[in-house]
Amino acid sequence: MRWDLSNSAVDSVFRSKVERLSDQNLGDCYQCGKCSGGCPVVPNTQSSPSRVMRMVQLGMEEDAMVDDLVWSCAGCGTCTGRCPEGVDTARVIDAVRAVADARDVSLPQQCAAVRTFYKAFLGSVRDFGRLSEVGLMGGYNINSGRFWTNVAKAPWFLLKGKVGLSAHRVRQLDRLARVFERVENIERAILEDIDRSRSEEEA
Ligand code: SF4
Ligand code: SF4
Repeated sequence: MRWDLSNSAVDSVFRSKVERLSDQNLGDCYQCGKCSGGCPVVPNTQSSPSRVMRMVQLGMEEDAMVDDLVWSCAGCGTCTGRCPEGVDTARVIDAVRAVADARDVSLPQQCAAVRTFYKAFLGSVRDFGRLSEVGLMGGYNINSGRFWTNVAKAPWFLLKGKVGLSAHRVRQLDRLARVFERVENIERAILEDIDRSRSEEEA
């Protein structure tokens, strides 16, 4: 597939954000494709980890943020383990998601469903210190508007003890809250810092 690099979406600031958030040097990637060869979700997407790497190298923010591989990534780390240059590709993909999240980008339906699931998962961990299956299912169904997804299976899950109605909070939940807060502050500071530098350059 050919990319039109003359359009206004090309943005080197995006590359800087992803590099800072992931703490990776994107210039180390020479597009060998080994990361893509081992990725288990590639067959179900129109993209690949090396393609995402290339988009970020070229500053193709708008395309990278809605890429289906970015939102299908299972975080297994295979791509990272296979990279001959030691690039932590999984962290780069994580960083692309973080930038998209900070911008509250509008996503295609399938990617948006993944983001809703992702947020419901993190919300459950934040609220309980562990995964609450009921909290996850409820959070996902309500926020995605798919109110009845898996509801018919709920009695079976409950009967078999696969999910519990009550969720037990871990002790010292406040310590976990501080971890969430710290990570959010670091991410926000990096993104604001780069945006500020850009504004200063443009002034
Ligand atoms: S394996 Fe590493 S160098 Fe090769 S394409 Fe993937 S990120 Fe780039
Ligand atoms: S971490 Fe994501 S992109 Fe990398 S191999 Fe696993 S699923 Fe694919």
